[in-house]
Amino acid sequence: MNRVWTLIGRGLRLRCPICGQGKLFKKGFTMYEQCPVCHFTYEREEGYFSSAMAINLVTSELIVAAAVVPFSIAAGMNPSIPFVPLLLLGSPLPIILPLLFFRHSRSLWMSVDHYVNPPLR
Ligand SMILES: [Zn+2]
Repeated sequence: MNRVWTLIGRGLRLRCPICGQGKLFKKGFTMYEQCPVCHFTYEREEGYFSSAMAINLVTSELIVAAAVVPFSIAAGMNPSIPFVPLLLLGSPLPIILPLLFFRHSRSLWMSVDHYVNPPLR
């Protein structure tokens, strides 16, 4: 159980799942190919981060749905709530949230993968 929290902590801090010291990202959305400290190769196989994209998309869209559905119901029940400002505020969310969650979805995917499928070293 302790290993789970260690991996989650490393994932939330965007650190290497192996050593916990090396950063995952150089700048912005650019990842290091290997850990700068322990030299572990982050992309374990081709297409490795496609699961991270799925995690990112599902999480982001669930957050959008959790925000949009109650506002839509409230706006439907109360016509005095202006629709256009709500639309203008909510429309960018499906684009902005996946960008904001990009780095953490990759690092948390690495944590989950290293818990389920630890590297043989
Ligand atoms: Zn490392």
